Amino acid sequence: MNSLVATSRNFRQAARILGLDSKLEKSLLIPFREIKVECSIPRDDGSLASFVGFRVQHDNARGPMKGGIRYHPEVDLDEVNALAQLMTWKTAVVDIPYGGAKGGIGCSPRDLTKSELERLTRVFTQKIHDLIGTHTDVPAPDMGTNAQTMAWILDEYSKFHGHSPAVVTGKPIDLGGSLGREAATGRGVVFATDALLGDYGKSIQGLTFAIQGFGNVGSWAAKLIHESGGKIVAIGDVSGTIRNPNGLDIHQLLKHKAEGGVLKDFTGGDAMDPDELLVHECDVLIPCALGGVLNREKMLPVKAKYIIEAANHPTDPEADEVKILSKKGVVVLPDIYANAGGVTVSYFEWVQNIQGFMWHEEKVNSELQRYMKTAFRNIKDMCMSHGCNLRMGAFTLGVSRVARATLLRGWEA
Ligand code: GLU
Repeated sequence: MNSLVATSRNFRQAARILGLDSKLEKSLLIPFREIKVECSIPRDDGSLASFVGFRVQHDNARGPMKGGIRYHPEVDLDEVNALAQLMTWKTAVVDIPYGGAKGGIGCSPRDLTKSELERLTRVFTQKIHDLIGTHTDVPAPDMGTNAQTMAWILDEYSKFHGHSPAVVTGKPIDLGGSLGREAATGRGVVFATDALLGDYGKSIQGLTFAIQGFGNVGSWAAKLIHESGGKIVAIGDVSGTIRNPNGLDIHQLLKHKAEGGVLKDFTGGDAMDPDELLVHECDVLIPCALGGVLNREKMLPVKAKYIIEAANHPTDPEADEVKILSKKGVVVLPDIYANAGGVTVSYFEWVQNIQGFMWHEEKVNSELQRYMKTAFRNIKDMCMSHGCNLRMGAFTLGVSRVARATLLRGWEA
């Protein structure tokens, strides 16, 4: 299912549960602004390459719009729109004073050199610089982008508006980035997992995990789960998928990667069919890669008891809705909560930039834990009040907070 249709369907279901007025529902769904720009750059060989860049600003009722910028071949307006909408509900779920936005460029960053990526990022920034800003819309990294990309955006933006460190988050530490930001999404996934398991009288220690993705989010989540005594029995990335029923040594795997190795060549595990990962025997499945991977067919043989959505919209609503998962007793921790650690620490980074005062990493991590714990309790309260699952608990929590802010601001022109 198209990601925008899927996200909007979850929103509409939450609006129904909350009994939202239909005019308010419509206004919350329609994005504030959609930007589509042509980004042409000379390639290193002198030829011209053209790409399309997007920024969708979904809602700003609760504060400046916030969300990452994705470089991926599948980026299009619908996808960015869906992700921008998810950011609006996500920032509200963790109760940080932001709205939602998302951006992206339809490109394959692996096929571009560093200087081509820098030119592309600068051209994109030139096209959108008037529409982003510390108090309007604050980009951050997402798939295919990183701290270096944010440094280029900051530098290009500052040429027009003067030095403005808080215009982007996820920056390098030397340019005002926050300690703990790089690990934040993965660490948040682990805090969220801990909160969920604790609710079932369980803990990470001794449980088995299968993780799809070994990029920024997957590798940090894997490292922290391994350090908490969880056994990672299967893990995969674009290079391949490996398993070890006794648990993979994640520290050795990280060392292997840091030395230039690819995941599939790691000798501490056996190669397995990547399609098997999602249905592998384990207690907890954590998809950390692309959206839509858990669909009706894939979900039928799933063996995990808990699914933690570290990726954005990894579960197609059909898998949710035809009750494949709930019938099997699988508990799904939704993306708008499970992966909110990244944007939460982005908020801490923005606060530090505005305050001009840098926090210790321990403070960043303990504040992140506090936000994740509180949000889990708030979601559970919504589940209790409305008799719904965790996804609808999170959606009703996020949507009700944005609806309240919108109504308080008023409708009069
Ligand atoms: N790209 C991340 C997300 O999807 C982080 C966004 C941010 O920090 O603004 O939540």
